[in-house]
Amino acid sequence: MTATGPPTATGPLTATGHPLQRAGAWAAAVMAERHHPDDVTTQDVERVAAMMVQDVLTAACAAKDTDRYDWWKVLYALYPNSKATRSSRPRDRALLQGEIEALFVVDVADAMVGPCAFCSRSASVLWAKSNLPLFDSSSVVNMLPLQMRGWPVCYGCRIAMWALPYGAWVSAGSATVLSCESEAAIAQFARRNVQRARRIIQAGFTGLPAGARPEYVTLVALRDAAPGLCATTLWTFKNDNQEPWLRVTQTRRAVPVFLARVDGNAALRRGWHLLARALTRYDKSGKVTAHGAQEAARLLFEAEDGRSQSLLLRVHEQLKDTDRVLPADGREGLARLALAYAEEVLGMTSDVTAVATLIAQWIARGTSPRGRFAEYRSAALSDYKLGMLLMQAYSRLLLDGQAPALAGPEQWQALIQRRPRAWEQRMLLFAQVSVLLQQQGVVISDQPAGEEEQRRLEALESQPILDDTEFDYEMGPA
Ligand SMILES: [Zn+2]
Repeated sequence: MTATGPPTATGPLTATGHPLQRAGAWAAAVMAERHHPDDVTTQDVERVAAMMVQDVLTAACAAKDTDRYDWWKVLYALYPNSKATRSSRPRDRALLQGEIEALFVVDVADAMVGPCAFCSRSASVLWAKSNLPLFDSSSVVNMLPLQMRGWPVCYGCRIAMWALPYGAWVSAGSATVLSCESEAAIAQFARRNVQRARRIIQAGFTGLPAGARPEYVTLVALRDAAPGLCATTLWTFKNDNQEPWLRVTQTRRAVPVFLARVDGNAALRRGWHLLARALTRYDKSGKVTAHGAQEAARLLFEAEDGRSQSLLLRVHEQLKDTDRVLPADGREGLARLALAYAEEVLGMTSDVTAVATLIAQWIARGTSPRGRFAEYRSAALSDYKLGMLLMQAYSRLLLDGQAPALAGPEQWQALIQRRPRAWEQRMLLFAQVSVLLQQQGVVISDQPAGEEEQRRLEALESQPILDDTEFDYEMGPA
């Protein structure tokens, strides 16, 4: 339901370029039931502030180890030295209320201290780092001007900076916000998180179903909002007194195109679901400790510091594992997924089919195809070993009279030299060889999948790759 009343162009809220303020402004808009931060009125923000004050008071006065205390943990991870979270705070609602309400007083016209640090509106309140996440971290450049006791922050931006935990994907010790070229995707990300935050406030983290992680929430938002090219950045941070940190991960602009392609193609969907299933982890009691669908979503995000997992490598691990029981067409689905990812997301164009054909022929003509496949597998990712193997395979097939059809050494160069993306090219070659072997019926794995496994996979591949039931925050754990 949307609140009635005309939107005002000059409302108190502006979504600025600062990722945290922006996430908070969108959260405030969602909480005010408006479509955009620009539409939020002064009456709306008053209502939002009143709600936030009540939530802060409930959390700050909750007994430790109760569900209500979980929201305090969220606030503590963002504002560890604030009036709401410091250990010396009064545990009495009535005593604390005035101090919390004072955070959100309106600006006084004849007491302005300068332009707001976020939106440049005149502000009469100075805020120190205790109310502003990451403002004392070296990860973000937010140096105080000399002689200033804090940053001027206007009424709207103060509310936005405290609406932040509602619009962020929060855990008990961290928060994640989204920047994105698509406002519709940002709005959806904020809506899901506000819903989730309300659930945490009422019932704590244990009251949440396992649910979707921020990467998954982002991909669904991209699928729904931005079918074309659209880049995203996720900012995950912890702001506690010991070790504040900020981690930045990004998706490339073509990810929505890739998702649409995978969702629209049965072989690619099969590959995606197989990958997700392989990434699922269990503890000794059989409880899921890593949800495959969530882990697969994370593979589309690349860390700024380069320390992220590679989707191609994860697929490669599945393809090379001949002990793994894969259903018919399973290898092909995985291999096609790797090829589609390289083409759409990494923008790789080179065609490895001719070289893959050479290797597949060599494997198929061996007295033991399984032995030759094992030989190729151990050489596949090494530039030097792969070069040796190609030379050996080429010579062998030449002697067997296969010359006209063979890819010669000039076609291997890109694969066996040390140059950018050569490693990825070798993984794609491996994927392509896997497809060819499967198509030619060359047996390289020990056991075929059973009938039941085959049926399970067929049921899976009819499912979309992203499932909205992951967001069932209204219901308790299954
Ligand atoms: Zn402002």
